[in-house]
Amino acid sequence: MTGVTSITFLKGVGSKKASILGEVGIVTIDDLFDYFPRRYLDRRAMKSIASLASGETVTVVGKVLKTQVEGNSPGRARFKAWLGDATGVLELTWFTGARYFSRSIVQGEALAVHGKVGYFGHKAQMQHPDFDRLSLTPLEMRDGESSDFELYDTGRIIPLYPTSEAMKQVGLNSRQLRTIIGRGFEVCLPGKQENLTPSLLSSYGLLPLSEAYREIHFPSSHEALAKARYRMKWTEFFYAQLLFALRHSEMRRNKAAVKFTHSGQATEKLYASLPFDLTDAQKNAVREIYRDLRSGSPMNRLLQGDVGSGKTIVAMFAMALAVDNGLQSVFMAPTEILAVQHYLGMKRFFQPLGLKVGLLTGKQTKKERQAVLASLSSGEFNIALGTHALIEDGVSYARLGLVIIDEQHRFGVLQRKALQEKAINPHVLLMTATPIPRTLAMGVFGDLDVSVIRQMPLGRKPVTTSIRDEKEREKIHDFLRTQVGEGRQGYIVYPLVEESEKMDLKAAVESFQELSTVVFPDLRLGLIHGQMTPDLKEQVMEQFRQGEIQLLVGTTVIEVGVDVPNATVMVIEHAERFGLAQLHQLRGRVGRGEHRSTCFLLHAKLTADARERLDAMESTSDGFLISEIDARIRGAGNILGKEQSGTLSGLRIADLNRDFDIMLSARDAAFRVVEEDGQLRRDDHAMIRSWYLNHYHDRFTLADIG
Ligand code: ADP
Ligand code: MG
Repeated sequence: MTGVTSITFLKGVGSKKASILGEVGIVTIDDLFDYFPRRYLDRRAMKSIASLASGETVTVVGKVLKTQVEGNSPGRARFKAWLGDATGVLELTWFTGARYFSRSIVQGEALAVHGKVGYFGHKAQMQHPDFDRLSLTPLEMRDGESSDFELYDTGRIIPLYPTSEAMKQVGLNSRQLRTIIGRGFEVCLPGKQENLTPSLLSSYGLLPLSEAYREIHFPSSHEALAKARYRMKWTEFFYAQLLFALRHSEMRRNKAAVKFTHSGQATEKLYASLPFDLTDAQKNAVREIYRDLRSGSPMNRLLQGDVGSGKTIVAMFAMALAVDNGLQSVFMAPTEILAVQHYLGMKRFFQPLGLKVGLLTGKQTKKERQAVLASLSSGEFNIALGTHALIEDGVSYARLGLVIIDEQHRFGVLQRKALQEKAINPHVLLMTATPIPRTLAMGVFGDLDVSVIRQMPLGRKPVTTSIRDEKEREKIHDFLRTQVGEGRQGYIVYPLVEESEKMDLKAAVESFQELSTVVFPDLRLGLIHGQMTPDLKEQVMEQFRQGEIQLLVGTTVIEVGVDVPNATVMVIEHAERFGLAQLHQLRGRVGRGEHRSTCFLLHAKLTADARERLDAMESTSDGFLISEIDARIRGAGNILGKEQSGTLSGLRIADLNRDFDIMLSARDAAFRVVEEDGQLRRDDHAMIRSWYLNHYHDRFTLADIG
C-alpha cells in the first residue's frame, strides 16, 4: 500500500466516516498523516483543579465523577458533569446539546477539558469546554499499561486533533484519530517518500520525513516533537519559497524586457507641473522603479504605501517614462468608481503634456468601447485606465510596455497573468494600500521586489480618532451638522459582511431613510452600496465629489481609494464589526485636504479583540504598525484576504508570523537550490522536482519547470 491509498482501506474507517473525513480534506492515507494535531496535552501545561483562577483559560485533566441532565422541557435541558482530580472538583455545564453530550460523556472516563474558568461561590466551573477523551490507543501503550491508566501521572504528550461536530458525532475524536493514524503508519510510513535531499537534511539539521511524522503524531519527548514540528514547518516554507525562487529565476533567465533608457519630455514636464514637492519616500520609490525599468529585465515590483501616501503620482512617473520610450501603459483599478476617478485625475495631469489617455470599463456603450479599443490597438492612446475590462479577450495593444495594478490585493494571480499576456514581458508594478508586515511580505510576495512609502505628504493633518459608545450617536450627529454648516462633507458607514449581507444591507438602507427624513431632513444625503448598478454608484460618487451630496451614507464600497478632500468626518457605525485593516482604510477617506478631520468609531458591546482593534486605531495612524497589530490579533493568514490564500494554502503547520526565522532559513535554501539548478534538472534534485510537481505545481501555475 502507498500513501495515496484511500483511507477506507484502513480498519475502522467505513464509508460514513470516510465521507466526514473527506469534508476536512482527508481522502488518502497521506492526507491523514498531514492532519496535524491542533495542540498537545502536555503535563507541564495542565493545572490542578484547586489551583484554578477565575477567568483563565486552562487545560484540566480528571475523571468524570458524575453526570446529570437538568431541566426536563426538551429545549431547556442542560447537561452537567463533574470532573475530579486529586485536588478538587470542576463543574462542567452544557446549555445546548444536552442529549448529545449526555451520551458522549460517561461517568468514570478520563477527560481533558479546555476552557475558561469561572467561579460560582467556591465552585469552579467551565461552560461548554472543549474536551478530549484520554484513554490510550494500543500504539501508545507502553509495556504493562492499560488503555485508561492514570494518564496525568505520566510525562506523556498526547496529541489533540481538530475535530468538527460532525466528526465527533461519529466518534472521530482525538483518540480514534490517533488509532486510525497509527494504522496508517503501520502500512504506509515505512514506504513514505522523503521530500528533501540528504544534503538539505544534513545542512539544515532536519529530521527525516517519516521520523518527523511519527513524532508529530506520537511524540516521544518534547525535544523530539519540537524537532519534528520544525522539520514540517521548514518543508512547507521550502516548497512555498521554491515557487518564488523558480519564478524569480525564470524572470531573469530568459525574459528580456524593453529597456526604458530614454528620459525625455513627458517625465520632465510631469515633474515641472507638479503642484507639490514629492516626499523623499516617493522619490525613492520612483528611483527604484526607474532602475527596474532601465534594467532590461521585466520589473516585478510591489509598491506598498498607506492610504494617502501618494502612490498614484509615483505610478504616473513610471507611465511618463514609458511614454518617453514610445510605449503604452495600462493602469488597472479594482472598481468602476476608482477607475473613473483615476481617469479624471490623471487626465488633468497628462492632457496638458499632450498625452492621450483612454478609459475602458465594463459599462461603456458598444460604440464607445469600439472607439477605445481601436485607439488602444492603433497606439493612439499612450495610457489606458480601467477595470479588469482592460484584460478581457479582444482587447489588444499596439505596444504595451508597462502594467500597473492598483489595490493589488483585490486581484487574483490569474488576472495578473492575463494582463501580462497582452504584451511580451511587460514591466509590472503592483500597488497596495494594505501595508503588509515585512514578515508576511516575504512569505506571500517572495518573488517580488518591494518598495515602501512610509511617509505622508507634508502638511497632512492627522485624523482625530474617537471611540464612542453608540449611545452618544446624537452628539455625533450634532457634530456632523456643524461640519456641514461650515461647508464640509462627511461619511456614515455601516458594516456589511458576507454571512449577514441581506440583513446588513437592510439595516444600512433603513438607517439612511431615517437619517434623511428624521435626523437631517434639511441636508442633502446620498446612499451608496454594493447592490446598486455601477452607473448609479458612479452618479452618487460624482454628486458627492461635486458637493451636491453633503453626507454620504453607505456600506464599505467607499472603502478603497475614494478621494474627496472636502470630506472631514468619517462616522463608522458598529465599528466593532469591522476588521482593523478595513477601519484603517475607511479612516483614510478623510484627512485628505486642508481641514482638520475626525473619525468616530461608534460601537455597541465590545469583545476583547474588538476593544484591542479600536484601541489600536486610536493609538496610531501608521498603517504598517496597524497591520502588525492586526497580524498579531488575527494570525497571519487572515489578514491577506482570499486572493492570496492560495499562496498560503500550502501552510498547514507553519505560521508566517510566529515562524519567521524558519521561513528565512527555508527561503535561503530554496533560492540556493534554484540558483545552482534553475529548472531542477539535476539527478540529486529529482526528488524535489517530483514532490514539487505532485504537490505544489497545480497551486502555482505561474512557475513553469515543465
Ligand atoms: P494613495 O497612496 O492612497 O493612492 P494618492 O496617490 O491618491 O494616495 O494621493 C493622495 C493625495 O495626496 C492626492 O490628492 C495627491 O494629489 C496628493 N499628494 C500626493 N503626493 C503628494 C505630495 N508629495 N505632496 C502633497 N500632496 C501629495
Ligand atoms: Mg490610491
